[in-house]
Amino acid sequence: MAEKRPERVAAARRLASRIRAEGPVTVADFMQEAVAGYYATQPPFGVAGDFTTAPEISQMFGEMTGAFLLDAWMRAGRPSPVSLIELGPGQGTLMADMLRVMRPYAAFCRAVSVHLVENSQRLRAAQRAKLAGVENVFWHDRLQDVPPGGFTLIVANEFFDALPVHQFVHGGQGTWRARRVGFDPAADKFFFDGERGDEKVFELSLATLSVMEEICRRLRSGTGGTALLVDYGYDVLAFGDTLQALSRHRFADALDNPGGQDLTAHVDFGLLAFEARRNGLRVQGPVGQGEFLLSLGIAQRAEMLAQHATPVQRQEIMTALRRLTAPSEMGTLFKALAVSGGFE
Ligand code: SAH
Repeated sequence: MAEKRPERVAAARRLASRIRAEGPVTVADFMQEAVAGYYATQPPFGVAGDFTTAPEISQMFGEMTGAFLLDAWMRAGRPSPVSLIELGPGQGTLMADMLRVMRPYAAFCRAVSVHLVENSQRLRAAQRAKLAGVENVFWHDRLQDVPPGGFTLIVANEFFDALPVHQFVHGGQGTWRARRVGFDPAADKFFFDGERGDEKVFELSLATLSVMEEICRRLRSGTGGTALLVDYGYDVLAFGDTLQALSRHRFADALDNPGGQDLTAHVDFGLLAFEARRNGLRVQGPVGQGEFLLSLGIAQRAEMLAQHATPVQRQEIMTALRRLTAPSEMGTLFKALAVSGGFE
């Protein structure tokens, strides 16, 4: 199957020649190159892709997050203007579902401009198609490029898990060193440099910290705002290697096929919350995605949708509800963190 994806070799080739010239690269550099190559060239989502995200499972996910952000805007006293920012919007499904919930609120619609932070041209095209007809939509490579000011609403689903992590390994005698990836041309394989295979691993994503710093800066300025961050991750500092590759909905070797398969690391919610508190922002959560969605009324929403549905559709709605909320599915591994500034 993977052979049908010819572009996959581009990122791998770049990494291999870089390692040949400079020696082994950090895990963060490897991941950066692999992830950028992946989103630039692959169809990641859905049955034909490598993984399925919450907004692709059901419109109810976007409806709940849209209601959550709208509520924050109302509690802040309906300020104008509003920048509604999404980090890593994928196929644009989440934003489309959120905007549908927001549409009846005329004052909000008059105040809002939509900003999509996306560095894949391929996915930008998908987002443009999905949001055709929506006014005031702008694309940016980085959050720093979104014009500042006004009230800020930020949403990110499965964005931080795509950002590169540094890994450090315990090398014995109480010393730590950055973990590096080498390349063996004879075997045509990437490998972790100089390891016995039983080292303790510690992860830190400086890219995550940088984005969170920028989020906090925005929530502290203008008329404040709220950020809702949903991802696969942990909230207690821990040792462990969470680098994870998915190919066609199956786990794969993290160092295989860079750029040709999904590569993520678990998100450190403790770090996100720490940075928010350090900036004097109000932090809610993280709570499990299940708890978050159920508290917003997703079960009642499912019932409402099911009332007007055929028996087959009803089954699909209830299956989606379970996938999004059950502890054995996405309900507890995925977490939601809300950060606010400028209003109570
Ligand atoms: N939020 C979507 C997509 C998640 S996949 C969903 O839930 O379905 C990750 C998304 O982040 C993709 O759109 C990818 O292109 C984007 N992305 C990854 N790294 C990025 C970066 N450094 N800057 C901007 N966008 C990035």
